[in-house]
Amino acid sequence: MSITIGKIFDLTVGKYGNKEALYDVRKNLRFTYKEWSFEINRLANALQQEGVRKGDIVSTYLFNTEELATTFFACAKLGAIFNPINFRLMSEEVAYILNDAKPKVVIFEKMLESGIEPIANRFPHTAFWFIDEDAPAFAVSYKKKVAAASRSAIQAEIHENDLYAIMYTSGTTGRPKGVLHCHRDIVEQSLIVISATKLDSHDNGLVTAPMFHCAELHCAFLPRVHVGATNTILHHFEPQRVLQLITEEKITKFFAAPTMWNMLLQEKLDDYQLDSLKIGLYGAAPMAPALVYACKDKLGIALVQAYGMTEMGPAITFLSDEDQISKAGSAGQACLNHEIRIVRPNENGPSDPDDTVPAGETGEIIVQGPCMMSGYYNNEEASIKSLHKGWYHSGDIGYLDDEGFLWVKDRVDDMIISGGENIYPREVEDVLYTHSGVLDVAVIGQPDDRWGESVTAFVVKKDLALTAEMLDEVCKNSAELANYKRPRKYIFCDVLPRNASGKIQKFMLRKRLEDLTQTNEL
Ligand code: ATP
Repeated sequence: MSITIGKIFDLTVGKYGNKEALYDVRKNLRFTYKEWSFEINRLANALQQEGVRKGDIVSTYLFNTEELATTFFACAKLGAIFNPINFRLMSEEVAYILNDAKPKVVIFEKMLESGIEPIANRFPHTAFWFIDEDAPAFAVSYKKKVAAASRSAIQAEIHENDLYAIMYTSGTTGRPKGVLHCHRDIVEQSLIVISATKLDSHDNGLVTAPMFHCAELHCAFLPRVHVGATNTILHHFEPQRVLQLITEEKITKFFAAPTMWNMLLQEKLDDYQLDSLKIGLYGAAPMAPALVYACKDKLGIALVQAYGMTEMGPAITFLSDEDQISKAGSAGQACLNHEIRIVRPNENGPSDPDDTVPAGETGEIIVQGPCMMSGYYNNEEASIKSLHKGWYHSGDIGYLDDEGFLWVKDRVDDMIISGGENIYPREVEDVLYTHSGVLDVAVIGQPDDRWGESVTAFVVKKDLALTAEMLDEVCKNSAELANYKRPRKYIFCDVLPRNASGKIQKFMLRKRLEDLTQTNEL
């Protein structure tokens, strides 16, 4: 039997047909698995009538909605390729993806109309489907299309090795690249997450991180469908709504990026009933140990960290709840059936997978596993480089300790070299986070005539009385930070630029610093 994404949905419907599958909070709409399967079949038939065939691409440009969830499975049933687009992208960025992917259909919503309207006429071979009332002139109504379609199941020959998704990376290092995954990659990832987060049909999971990102889609949403649990879908992250839904819907598990956890902790937690919560999954970006301790302390839940990247499905390691304290700061151990190696970086090309370094020594993190992408869409050069000798080269630096725990230091591109010494911004950020007056922090390198680069910290204050001197004192007193790693400059700001998956966009901070230097504002 070929286990495809459509197949796992059908198996769940067979077992849990009358169980609640999905609750779309914004629409106040609830579906059992059986009801949802009719909706999925209708959409699959409607897309087929639009001319979508096996191998064609269907894009979504949506917040977290039932329609995104339904499109995910309708594509799987049709053999179409699902392409969720980041809802934070602006029209020209969306145009870049549509030019690259050339989808047959783009499904979008009212709140994102301004991202599509200025560019729609450049794509005459793409149909634009609008999920809300009153479709604009360039689009048609999704609801009407679906209402007119049959609810009978589509019969398509789909194999687990068929391509299923193009996920564009979040673009923290440059233009997004379309990561290609087949059904099997994503099903394997789902199985791995089910065991790591102890999921079963009694769970009710909150979808609150962006569904266009595989951290939410593959590590939270899909595994719940796989085991017949419920997905409660929140349109977008709002800390008070999250806490209210945990209270009302008795949410048991959810995934959130570190910045979201931080925002939850700023709320009046005593106003809510959070005891249904069992496991919180965090990842997609580094989370300072101080924040992990605060979550455990104030929310009283078990935490599991995932580390990974879109190219690997995404999770490649998990740090279990048992290890959160004794291995604080580590990303955990390799996921089932994954092998991680640390290799000596090669300045002239991809590093050699056999040039490994001993335990405890830092190098590039490379990995092999069953969820690895097939390559990048329309980008053979990048595919060959990233998948050199069958290993995915992550561009992250870190080390493995002698118990096989991975410690991610930083991205190769973010490393600061000052006076010939390597400084990983993350180690400086972790120390600054220990000051209770810090809400958010990012450390970058600044060109320096004497040292090559010097360390600068951007800081968002929690306590307005916080000063650069106070932070410098924390660094001086830290046993974990050598003198040359101390920031030479602190820049206080209201907010740090983050992408939709919560990662700090350091290239924007470098630009800000450059502008400030040029205008002598420092
Ligand atoms: P682009 O490649 O276009 O810059 P991106 O790499 O940000 O986009 P993602 O696949 O979303 O796209 O991010 C993967 C990266 O996120 C990893 O390589 C790593 O640097 C970081 N990351 C993910 N999880 C964690 C984690 N738990 N701890 C530290 N860093 C993490």
